[in-house]
Amino acid sequence: MIRPQAQGALRQARDGPLVKRRSRTRAVEGRAPAIDIEKVSKTYELGQIKVRALREVSMQITRGDFVAIMGSSGSGKSTLMNILGCLDLPTGGRYLIDGTDVRDMDEDDLSDLRNRKIGFVFQSFNLVARTSALANVELPLAYAGVERRARRERARQALASVGMAKRVDHQPSELSGGQQQRVAVARALVTNPTMILADEPTGNLDSRSTEDVLRIFAELNAERRTVVLITHEPDVAEQAKRVIHLSDGRITEDVRNVGVHEGPPALRHQKRGHNSASGRSAQ
Ligand code: ADP
Ligand code: MG
Repeated sequence: MIRPQAQGALRQARDGPLVKRRSRTRAVEGRAPAIDIEKVSKTYELGQIKVRALREVSMQITRGDFVAIMGSSGSGKSTLMNILGCLDLPTGGRYLIDGTDVRDMDEDDLSDLRNRKIGFVFQSFNLVARTSALANVELPLAYAGVERRARRERARQALASVGMAKRVDHQPSELSGGQQQRVAVARALVTNPTMILADEPTGNLDSRSTEDVLRIFAELNAERRTVVLITHEPDVAEQAKRVIHLSDGRITEDVRNVGVHEGPPALRHQKRGHNSASGRSAQ
């Protein structure tokens, strides 16, 4: 239950720096694709050497889609995710997020957009050490200026929604890899984002924790949130509605999975030889 006061605080936080461009954003929001990239390139320059990580990639992702991005190591997946999440800008091409060109936004606008629209999940969890699960999940709300009691309550709800209600006071080192990732997912969803971007979120998890995390993503997607999940595991990609393959910075395949259900996913094969980041097995 979010109290009206908290909603007000959140609305205030949400409407902050983007106010000056709101009318234009509003006009297209809902109609435009959530993600629309056109001939996006990213070239890293390392002294004399140029690394072309993305080469004129074009694609659209509609709101509420569940997309897996696959590709071998070095194919440009993380570069693409960083651009989609406005953590980095393309060196060429155009990116419209909900109809707004990211080039028209300054750094404040971009960080505001990341904070209110996008939830990030990473392979290595990126939780703050020696800090409780609850405080970790509260963090994005603190950045958004949500009042302390309200954010505590929302963080508790988010943790409960990923099955971590009984672990709110645990620090990351007191949690298994799977549990840490569920805390990270709670942190991603606590701001009520319309889009979840996850870079190999199950890469350090065993089969059971992978299923847990995928089930949560499926639930978030069933609430019409856009989910973009990077993975190199075919079993994980199978749970998405659409699979895009990247190779050497280009899209080589873009297919819809037929008959992807909305229910809880199940891995067809058990993972073998996973490496748990925490060195413990998930519970
Ligand atoms: P993936 O996530 O698919 O493994 P990345 O997007 O991380 O691939 O990398 C794509 C290519 O860009 C690789 O050749 C990588 O070495 C290079 N690259 C990634 N980040 C940087 C960077 N910050 N500076 C220079 N080169 C980079
Ligand atoms: Mg990567």
